[in-house]
Amino acid sequence: MATDANCIFCKIVAGAIPSFKLYEDSATFAFLDINPGNPGHALVIPKAHAVNLYASDDKDLAAVMATVRKVATAVEKTVTPDGLNLLQANGPGAAQSVFHFHMHILPRRLGDELKMNWGLKPGDKAELAALAEKIRANL
Ligand code: AMP
Repeated sequence: MATDANCIFCKIVAGAIPSFKLYEDSATFAFLDINPGNPGHALVIPKAHAVNLYASDDKDLAAVMATVRKVATAVEKTVTPDGLNLLQANGPGAAQSVFHFHMHILPRRLGDELKMNWGLKPGDKAELAALAEKIRANL
């Protein structure tokens, strides 16, 4: 499987750095974003390293979307948002900051005024841990 020793998401998959893990299977891994745009903001990645959509393998993309549906359903059940966006960035002009393909699962509230570039504000670690546990219970 393709991996990049300098990639932070490859390190998360390998367990070399911690994450608020939600789910994994043979091809995908899901965890909470540490700078959540809203509570329940999650990321789904292929375990195999690919820098963006263009470099991704079709089978990995299909596996990622199946995991996105599974995790988004649990996020929806857990935080009962008013809506939920799926987002994915390719290249710095699209505000991609981690160069390992990932889908954002982003719960939304009416009137939250969240912009596409929502900025990186660290979430509270205890709140992230508690929320990850609740979402896992809804998987
Ligand atoms: P993007 O801007 O689409 O590349 O999104 C990358 C996302 O990864 C950002 O929302 C970051 O908050 C998130 N992120 C970066 N490092 C970590 C990490 N160690 N654990 C969880 N999320 C992370």
